[in-house]
Amino acid sequence: MTGIRLDGTAVDVSEGVSLLAAVRGAGVELPALCHDDRFAPAGSCRTCLVRADGRIVASCVTPAAPGATVEVTADDLRALRREAVEVIVSALPPRALAPGNRTELARVCRSLGIGPETATGPGDRGGDDSHPYVHLDRDLCIACGRCVRMCADVQGTFALTLVGRGADTVVAPGTGGPWAQSDCVACGGCVDSCPTGAIFEPGPVPGLTSASPDDPATSTRTRTTCGYCGVGCTLDVVTEDGAIAAVLPARDGPVNRGHACVKGRFARGYRTSPERLTRPLLRRGGRLEPVGWDEALHHIAHGLRAAVQEGGPDAVAAISSARATNEENYLLQKFMRVVIGTNSVDNCSRLCHSPSAAGLMATFGLPGGTDTFDDVERSDCLLVVGANPAEAHPVVGARLLQRVLQGARLVVADPRAVGLATHADVHLRPRPGTNVALFHGLAHVLLAEDLVDHAFLRDRAAGLPELAELLADYPPDRVAALTGVPAADLVAAARLYGRAERPAIVYGLGVTEHLHGTDGVRALANLAVLRGAVGTGRGFGVNPLRGQNNVQGASDMGALPDVLPGYGKVTDRAVRARAEEVWGVPVPDRPGLRIPEMFAAARAGRLRALWVVGEDVCATDPDANRVAQALAACPLVVCNELFLSETARHADVVLPAASWLEKDGTFVNFDRRFQRVRPAVAPPGEARSDFEIVHAVASAMDADLGCPDPAAALAECARLTPLFAGLSHQRLDREGAVPWPCPDPVRPGEATLYQERFATSDGRAHLAATPYLPPGEQPDDQYPLILVTGRRWAHYNSGSMTRRGGNLALDPADHLDVHPDDAARYGLFDGEPATVTSRHGHARLLTRIGVETAPGQVFCAFHFPASGVNRLTSDHADTVTSCPEYKVTAVRLTAGDGPA
Ligand code: SF4
Repeated sequence: MTGIRLDGTAVDVSEGVSLLAAVRGAGVELPALCHDDRFAPAGSCRTCLVRADGRIVASCVTPAAPGATVEVTADDLRALRREAVEVIVSALPPRALAPGNRTELARVCRSLGIGPETATGPGDRGGDDSHPYVHLDRDLCIACGRCVRMCADVQGTFALTLVGRGADTVVAPGTGGPWAQSDCVACGGCVDSCPTGAIFEPGPVPGLTSASPDDPATSTRTRTTCGYCGVGCTLDVVTEDGAIAAVLPARDGPVNRGHACVKGRFARGYRTSPERLTRPLLRRGGRLEPVGWDEALHHIAHGLRAAVQEGGPDAVAAISSARATNEENYLLQKFMRVVIGTNSVDNCSRLCHSPSAAGLMATFGLPGGTDTFDDVERSDCLLVVGANPAEAHPVVGARLLQRVLQGARLVVADPRAVGLATHADVHLRPRPGTNVALFHGLAHVLLAEDLVDHAFLRDRAAGLPELAELLADYPPDRVAALTGVPAADLVAAARLYGRAERPAIVYGLGVTEHLHGTDGVRALANLAVLRGAVGTGRGFGVNPLRGQNNVQGASDMGALPDVLPGYGKVTDRAVRARAEEVWGVPVPDRPGLRIPEMFAAARAGRLRALWVVGEDVCATDPDANRVAQALAACPLVVCNELFLSETARHADVVLPAASWLEKDGTFVNFDRRFQRVRPAVAPPGEARSDFEIVHAVASAMDADLGCPDPAAALAECARLTPLFAGLSHQRLDREGAVPWPCPDPVRPGEATLYQERFATSDGRAHLAATPYLPPGEQPDDQYPLILVTGRRWAHYNSGSMTRRGGNLALDPADHLDVHPDDAARYGLFDGEPATVTSRHGHARLLTRIGVETAPGQVFCAFHFPASGVNRLTSDHADTVTSCPEYKVTAVRLTAGDGPA
């Protein structure tokens, strides 16, 4: 801290801050129309003038020097600032300061006594309302450039520019033409930063979303956590008259820092969709009909009792949800174990990051990422593997790109040339299914060129001799033959990672969704261990990007068939005893069924009741035809859902559920932070939270699960496991975000793991010497191409939320990305239909020709269940965890939408 004198009063300020920050920090209002503390100051608008040591300066670009004497409120300074603002305002049309306008400019004018009569500009420049979420009123643009810098410096999209000269300067999409056809990815940063409302989110309240929105007199803000991806952005939901008026990124959000993406920021149209389920549905005579809650619950209770009577407790299974809160997951697994008496509860991490949990646990001892994402800010080399964060985790993608633009080196390993790959120093494009060989090739170079940390390997790792022996078989030339990655690129990448002082590994589903996904995670983790870049503070370890909002938390809460909350094994007597003490009943000791095993048991007639909470398994699980067969064969299928999804259509009872904007609890994000989720609005009609639904089903079975509210559920979970013992809603309300492990209520959680020892039985990191094995699916003459599936930026998962609302206009159809060579070979044309056929089914999509996808490979997402993408994927699955091999499916293509 340092001291300055502010209008005669001594104040302490942090070293290095600007005078603007110092003045505002002291609670003194000071306009700064070209400034936003999310990016570097420009000092161009002259509205923040102060006097420092006798000189008039722009406070945003002037550091608060120790001992400085600063004047802010003197009449002459106020007059100067007023003059600067008046000049700006005089060019604007009267509506810029219309009564009720809540923009930053309107507030500044009010504070300086500038009235609407000052705004006398002609207002003839027109607007652009081509985009569903971002509209432009050119007449209100003051060319402050905040939007342009937000887009470039924070979002990293560079979609905007200032065009024109002098007073005619105005913001425009860099591509020219309408906004909707620009490179804009609708993160909303320009909307939030624009001080005048020139760029705005269409809505009933002018200026509501501008810069420092909301008027406490009329708006209510609810602080919550985004319910889309696993980044866990902190959001403020602004409501007016009980309806959501805006969802704004919180400036003090620990991960997002005032940024968001098109999903969290805008995609809420689904909430009020007329297709939203508002009453329970019960199948009668083959049709789903609306019924009251009592009747639906009675039917479920009767069906569950009958299933247990006929087949025992293991004839019942539940699929919990990575979209649901921790408390809902906790309660559902407790219901299955305590009321039904089975461990057959699983969650959709089975389909995405179960290999991460297994692989990270085996190597390091805990099933989460090794570091806090904040550490990435210090990394000097990023290795981004099998992930496209620019689309799937946009806020993380933007922060990674910022780091690269600041000078960090970047290696991307991904078959496709998308997102960050265009900024990479080296882009490795392995053939899908060859990750393990690729990682061993990198490790081979690290060892061969002595780019390893000998002291770390000696003191803190195990398994080096076995790994070294294995790696002898993975020289660059052989790895090049296995993976298709040129040997020189492999060596260059290994040297970048190996010579960095603080290397970071960030990875995604391109590592896990393979036949040998767990081996992939372990082989990737080997690199960090060889470099001593984990548990030492000298790197950002190994960190998975989680897909759905609470995929980490669903597993943390024990919604898994082999572990209880906190990952204690159900086969461990001491672990069960601890749960039994809290729950007061015996806990079954035999691991339950995994999701694919549940479907197999249903098809075989052994599973007699399945409860699916918030997952559209018919759309998102592989080999969808056989999933549908399983649901058809199961005598009772219960489904909690927002909409009549494909899965709900197969159910016997459908229960209307609340969305993330309507419920209370917590999520755990990708870097293990517990964060609060709070209801901003009420669910529609008779919809209930999954927490209430699980309680209601338990009551219908004459059982009492205790923990009457989500806070009590987390408190009970904290009593079960040391990993979460220090967590509570009260603490999270106070502190915002707390990472696990958190064994102590008065000490911080561990953001960076393994600083003293690894959590393995011997305290060492375990290198894995697992050989490369080929993928389950191989192309042949009949199916000559490899299909990779993944995500698109505008959509989320099965698309049930993002297809209902403005995001559909941004990305209206399922596309198949095809390389021009393959398009020519198979007679496909851009925008025309193509039929994709695999050994398991077929799907129809629209062709999109481009070079992002390598020859011999095609790519599509799974956001439009109607196109049937998951009828294509096989039931091959990771040999350790049963995670499906989504990333490798052999297919053939035919033009048109006729039979393949
Ligand atoms: Fe943030 Fe992910 Fe939500 Fe986008 S979807 S706002 S990146 S948490």
